Amino acid sequence: MAKLKTVGSTERHNYSDAEWNARVELAACYHVFEMFGWVELIYNHITVKVPGTDDEFLINPFGLTYDEVTPDNLIRINLAGEKLEDSPYPINPAGFVIHSAIHAARKDAKCVTHTHTTAGLAIASTVGGLEMSNFYSAQLYGEVAYHDFEGISDDLGECERLVQALGDRPTMIMRNHGLLSCGETVAEAFYSLWRLERACQIQMATAAIGNPLMIPDAICEKSTAQIKRFDPEGQGAQRIFDGMRRRAARQRPDLDWLAA
Ligand SMILES: [Zn+2]
Repeated sequence: MAKLKTVGSTERHNYSDAEWNARVELAACYHVFEMFGWVELIYNHITVKVPGTDDEFLINPFGLTYDEVTPDNLIRINLAGEKLEDSPYPINPAGFVIHSAIHAARKDAKCVTHTHTTAGLAIASTVGGLEMSNFYSAQLYGEVAYHDFEGISDDLGECERLVQALGDRPTMIMRNHGLLSCGETVAEAFYSLWRLERACQIQMATAAIGNPLMIPDAICEKSTAQIKRFDPEGQGAQRIFDGMRRRAARQRPDLDWLAA
């Protein structure tokens, strides 16, 4: 493992403005996930398509924790998970398989996130999956896909089934495994995942008390339509993400680039 650079130091290299902005936004997202505790040792990924390309992506260096990610240590890779630039860090091609399948199949999925949070995995491990029993699950009516567990995701056959199951939805519960979201922007992918994570947390708490009160389909449909109106073209999601980024920046004053 290469020695970490001085925390907070970033090098702009020769990246275009568009790529640099994508790097800053994605690195900020890793710090926001860290802030929420959506981390699993050195595993899981948030990936973003390099602007202006269809088959190049940015991913976290394998071995670093989310709070160690910076715009310039993100690594540019192709769909096969091969590095397209020099980096002292390795990447985790096996972990990228799920992401590459979705990036390849869904042109709108510019950002893909995946977590193994306790609440997400707990709900993913129940027969019924997400119940329409709380404020946040009602905002995801018809928006959550399901994919059956097939072991650690590393084969292309599974990728086809996963993409098929996802369809055009923004979120997925990978049964017995975890949560996934995708979006046109980092902010959209974050906000979809946040709602799903919150819905899972509350369902878990409700299950501990017992007797969940189900919400009628018509009200769920209305709630989901309302949340879409709140977020025309992702502006609401961006406002929320920017706020979370500022919160993360206040916790890490050593990171100049993180302050929006
Ligand atoms: Zn996973």
